Amino acid sequence: MWSANSFQRKVIEYYRQHGRKHLPWHGTKDPYRIWLSEIMLQQTQVARVIPYYEAFLERFPTIVDLAEASSDEVMHLWSGLGYYSRARNLHKAAKIVAKDFAGTFPQDPEEIEALPGIGRSTAGAIAAFSFDKPTAILDGNVKRVLARCYGIEGWAGKSAVLKSLWAKAEKNTPSQNTAQYNQAMMDLGAVVCTRSKPKCEQCPLAKECYALKQDMISELPGKKPKKTRPKRSVYWLVCIDNNQVLLHKRPPSGIWGGLWCFPELDQTAPIPEHYEQLSSFVHKFSHYDLEVQPLLVKKLSKTGIMEPNETDRFALNLFDKKKQAKTTAIGLPTPVSNLLASLS
Ligand code: SF4
Repeated sequence: MWSANSFQRKVIEYYRQHGRKHLPWHGTKDPYRIWLSEIMLQQTQVARVIPYYEAFLERFPTIVDLAEASSDEVMHLWSGLGYYSRARNLHKAAKIVAKDFAGTFPQDPEEIEALPGIGRSTAGAIAAFSFDKPTAILDGNVKRVLARCYGIEGWAGKSAVLKSLWAKAEKNTPSQNTAQYNQAMMDLGAVVCTRSKPKCEQCPLAKECYALKQDMISELPGKKPKKTRPKRSVYWLVCIDNNQVLLHKRPPSGIWGGLWCFPELDQTAPIPEHYEQLSSFVHKFSHYDLEVQPLLVKKLSKTGIMEPNETDRFALNLFDKKKQAKTTAIGLPTPVSNLLASLS
């Protein structure tokens, strides 16, 4: 079995020879840029993140620019990337850094972790990449490499399993070259030790890897126990009047918080006759399915439903994707933006 030293050596050697060094957030020590990339990369592929990362930085080159932006503009630039609480927390944290730290990102890992939306691993990554602190990381990629290498069984959502993984991560993280080591572990998980079909023949850890030796790659890391996915069924009221569409800004927290959507009703009653049914669809969230039946309504007053708070009317042609007419700086979830595009 590896000693921590030989594990580190192999991993750092791999980074020097094969590590990814050319992504837009590599080669910077700016904590704002590193933080932004770490948050965007959570649950999201690199190729999808790059254009969002670049557009975000072009509009908000500094953390103070982000702190001073309106929430609509922040959500607009995040629209389509999903997991919108990330954007809301990013905005909140930027405001705290601007106000409580005079716009300078804190260096202490504990102070970093106290900011909204930053967990222990992200705080460790920012502290190591920006400030050369010897802090460990444990994102999804690193969890996979460690679970396989050391045969740590069970789902990482269980506290005992997570504790074992953190203990290994802490033990193996070197006090020198921490940034290179952390980057290498992320790269190994993302490029070599992938979820399915890992490229063990390219892996610097193959010689001692528990999962490879025991033929347990598909069982490690342990999967989340399966539960039946709940389903929620709603109507979306597509109210179009004089080529203007009515949208409603959702409350700041919860699903799609702060984004603009169609007024929504639970499907507890049959569809009344004077609505026109549009094509229904299912949108999958990480923890449930949302079954949507859009209903075209010519006048909201005919529905007998009060206009919800925080509504506004927008010209339909603003949402025509072919004309690239994304001139309205508001945040829209992808299914809303697709439905608007099909109507405009
Ligand atoms: S040998 Fe294979 S399974 Fe083991 S850490 Fe390397 S890539 Fe992953």
